[in-house]
Amino acid sequence: MLNNPFLNAQEQLRQAASLLEPQYGDKKVFRAVIQTLMTPQNLVQVELSIKMDNGKTQKFKAFRSQHNDARGPFKGGIRYHYNVSVEEVKALSMWMTWKCATTGIPYGGAKGGIIVDPSKLSKGEVERLSRAYARAITPYIGVWKDVPAPDVNTTGQIMAWMLDEYEKIIGRHEPGVFTGKPLEIGGSLGREEATGKGGVRVLEQLAKKLQLKPAQTTVAVQGLGNVGYWFAKLAAELGFNVVAVSDSRGGIVSNDMKKGLNIDAVMAHKKKMGSIAGFTGTRSVSNAELLELPVDVLVPAALENVITAENAGRVHAKAIVEMANGPVTPEADEILWKKHILSVPDVLSNAGGVTVSYFEWVQNLYGYAWTKKEVFAKLEPLMVDAFNHMWDMHEKKNVHLRLAAYVNAVKRVVDAMILRGR
Ligand code: NAD
Repeated sequence: MLNNPFLNAQEQLRQAASLLEPQYGDKKVFRAVIQTLMTPQNLVQVELSIKMDNGKTQKFKAFRSQHNDARGPFKGGIRYHYNVSVEEVKALSMWMTWKCATTGIPYGGAKGGIIVDPSKLSKGEVERLSRAYARAITPYIGVWKDVPAPDVNTTGQIMAWMLDEYEKIIGRHEPGVFTGKPLEIGGSLGREEATGKGGVRVLEQLAKKLQLKPAQTTVAVQGLGNVGYWFAKLAAELGFNVVAVSDSRGGIVSNDMKKGLNIDAVMAHKKKMGSIAGFTGTRSVSNAELLELPVDVLVPAALENVITAENAGRVHAKAIVEMANGPVTPEADEILWKKHILSVPDVLSNAGGVTVSYFEWVQNLYGYAWTKKEVFAKLEPLMVDAFNHMWDMHEKKNVHLRLAAYVNAVKRVVDAMILRGR
């Protein structure tokens, strides 16, 4: 894999473009559009100065990359991490363009970030930093312009501070400019479980295609955070056999592979004992071992780059549902494809989150407050349609699922660009 995530993103776009090109009569226009899509439309880079609790001023580098808005306003989270870089933010913004196009929601792609370790800041310092970031990006965002959201290490509280700062500047309410807000200030019901909920719809469709019956399908989930917990719990409720789960300290696997785990009981055990290890009827496995278990479906739901050229050859699952962002490297993709292991890409599997963010924006624009039932009734068919669209392309072109999803997504964006005459 290339070390630079942005070069990886560009290479993925090149691959999708080469499959698409034969469909376009005017090659010159098509190639010009692809060339435009190779780089973000806008890149905001700023240095934020914050008064720290000790009275000194500290500077933080911050970014907002707006990749493409041909299909609608830019959309994407804001990440607080010491590893944030301009190349990472640019790559993530391009992936957001494809994610929104994959599900068909009317957004483009963006991503923001600050180079900071928020665990080293006090609450007051995080608030001042978040407000400073909101002030810096205010000229570039708006309900019909760019709609940020939480990402790694950013929360509903941080969105609340940013919204407050933004509204102070523009002098009116405009809650739809940020999504992932707390319910009290315009957040949407169902957002918490949305990503897991969308993911299990994908799992169900995949099981149908592979002719796997839920009760006979074993599933291993890496990471029991927001995404992994809801995915594991909802999959178990649908009758799938969730036989292994893990968190940052390691995992457990059921002693009886025919008997799935009770996810809420595992969480209760973790709360009581401080770890999932030792849960009745299970043995401990490392996070590396969990990825190599002989299960039907493997679900990486924690970190990026966990399935690589090094371990892909040892994956025994029939299929992978990528709930984390970027858990499978491009080299691993090729190895898995040769081994006939299908990997449903993150741009589809975890798109339930951004889709409910879109519903939050719609509710804010109209002043509605939908029930959870209404939210899920809208989410579920959208995920199923997106899955089938990807599957059809996978069969038509005989390419792996990520490339199939990318071909569909890039086509939607290219068509919007051509219609706009860009
Ligand atoms: P989270 O912080 O709630 O949970 C992360 C989980 O991963 C925790 O249980 C943690 O213990 C576990 N973990 C950490 N290091 C680990 C390791 N080395 N091995 C195994 N487990 C480890 O985060 P989240 O919101 O659930 O996000 C998880 C992934 O899903 C991320 O890649 C994120 O970008 C992606 N994602 C999240 C959403 C969302 O709606 N939250 C939407 C789309 C994508």
